Amino acid sequence: MNEDATPTLRGGCECGAVRYEARGQPYHRTVCHCTTCRRTSGAPMVGWFSVAAAGFRFTQGEPRRFRSSAQAVRSFCGDCGTPLLFKRDDLDEVDVSICSLDDPEAVRPEDHTYVRSRLGWAPMADGLPQYPAARED
Ligand SMILES: [Zn+2]
Ligand SMILES: [Zn+2]
Repeated sequence: MNEDATPTLRGGCECGAVRYEARGQPYHRTVCHCTTCRRTSGAPMVGWFSVAAAGFRFTQGEPRRFRSSAQAVRSFCGDCGTPLLFKRDDLDEVDVSICSLDDPEAVRPEDHTYVRSRLGWAPMADGLPQYPAARED
């Protein structure tokens, strides 16, 4: 297979201090409604996609990190606060926030997760599948 067939997605935070690139086919494209995504973003929901951990690297700056649950660490820009990455300890993959991409239209969500925590006023009239919690639950 031609190596050029592997897409490289680029993005970073709002202020430009942190930049990254993610190589590989994005999967598990979701809009997450969980309370942690909500609080860490200040938004009603957050779009995420997954790539293999080996395909992701920060190309500029270093994000701040914090453990948002017993099993996962989140990364964000320490200057402007943009949420960038979610990484579960037990998985060899990272979740990247879709809206930190230079071109967020390039990765379209395929479902909604944690809709049990969805805010009553957050719109969802897009016809995508909905899961009460994680997709595998
Ligand atoms: Zn920033
Ligand atoms: Zn979430």
